[in-house]
Amino acid sequence: MDSNREKLTTMQRADRYMFQTYGRFPVTLVRGEGCRVWDENGKEYLDFVGGIAVCALGHSSSVVTDALQEQSRTLVHVSNLFYTKPQIDVAELLVKNSFADRVFFSNSGAEANEAAIKLARHYAREKYGESRFTIISMENSFHGRTMATLSATGQDKVRKGFDPLLPGFRFVPFNDLPSIQSALDETVCAIMMEPIQGEGGVVCPKPGYLQNVRKLCKEKDVLLIFDEVQVGMGRTGKLFAHEHFGVTPHIMTLAKALGNGLPVGAMLATEELSKAFGPGTHASTFGGTPLVTAVCKAVLESLLADGWIEHCRNVGAYFKSRLEALREKYSFVREVRGYGLILGMELDLPGGPVVNACMDKGFLINCTQERVLRFIPPLIVQEQEVDQLVDTLDEILKECGSRNVEGGR
Ligand SMILES: *Cc1c(COP(=O)(O)O)cnc(C)c1O
Repeated sequence: MDSNREKLTTMQRADRYMFQTYGRFPVTLVRGEGCRVWDENGKEYLDFVGGIAVCALGHSSSVVTDALQEQSRTLVHVSNLFYTKPQIDVAELLVKNSFADRVFFSNSGAEANEAAIKLARHYAREKYGESRFTIISMENSFHGRTMATLSATGQDKVRKGFDPLLPGFRFVPFNDLPSIQSALDETVCAIMMEPIQGEGGVVCPKPGYLQNVRKLCKEKDVLLIFDEVQVGMGRTGKLFAHEHFGVTPHIMTLAKALGNGLPVGAMLATEELSKAFGPGTHASTFGGTPLVTAVCKAVLESLLADGWIEHCRNVGAYFKSRLEALREKYSFVREVRGYGLILGMELDLPGGPVVNACMDKGFLINCTQERVLRFIPPLIVQEQEVDQLVDTLDEILKECGSRNVEGGR
């Protein structure tokens, strides 16, 4: 019976059976190890996407697989009606290594932000009454795809077609203090932002900007929410990105690298704020299961104890200097920016063809905002692997350059 069945490729089956929500690359990845992944035809790739800043310790890390194996034989899930140890261990580690006093676990970045939005509103309502609910967020931001988080996301392509959105969000340009000042009226309860915009194209704050935002928040008793879903967990060369700027938020959200590939998010907040979330105010069935948090614990311990954050700082600085050299060499490379191992290279031409050429040559990178090549490899990446990528990128850009000249641009 099976022998008569049409033989479809993996991609054809995806086209037939799955929602077509993702614009995917035409490869099926089947295995990974360290910074390398392999497709179903055995082709090897060096991975500078890292599951979108998720796989900080790389693929098939023994840190992850050991914790996963052991915990899967011990206790996978019992619900949050009961205490379980691994989530408490992770909460303690996060609190002891951050500004925060308390942690709430979710399953994703969007849900962590959803919790942050709810907490900010609940807190403001208890303190100031019903009129204080507006959340200021940034143009070009990305906070997730649930209704509340897409309402907070400052990108039309994410919001389009889902009206009516959640009311009470107001957008201002990133790096523009005066526009926050004019948006800050009596209805505002919080400012929500990524300290470095990831999906927005690796956009970094200008010197003094975040400090001034924090000052404004203090003056107006407005909460500051940092979405560190992408840039937290060592990605920038510090455990949390805001540490670079000496600015502490009231609420911070984490996800991507927190579980190195297991689905998990977290919202962290100060003691005072946490009081606004009493029993019954918020919940998640899967939030912080023993299985997932056992992995988070192992990952966090490794990040803190095995020198990966310092490694990220060093390799990131080397990587950036090599990208800067390409910027000097090619006039159509507009800017190189970022911290640690979240680096962006903005081009004056579409990045898509460069990404595809990299893939042909065995390197995975991606592109945001059409023209920004984004590099977010595992934090364990080695200089020599960076060299391989940058040498290849150099060849590709050289070709782009000559085509560009021929095209008369
Ligand atoms: C990826 C991302 C999210 C959304 O996380 P999901 O796990 O996809 O819901 C939110 N904020 C930022 C900054 C992100 O990069």
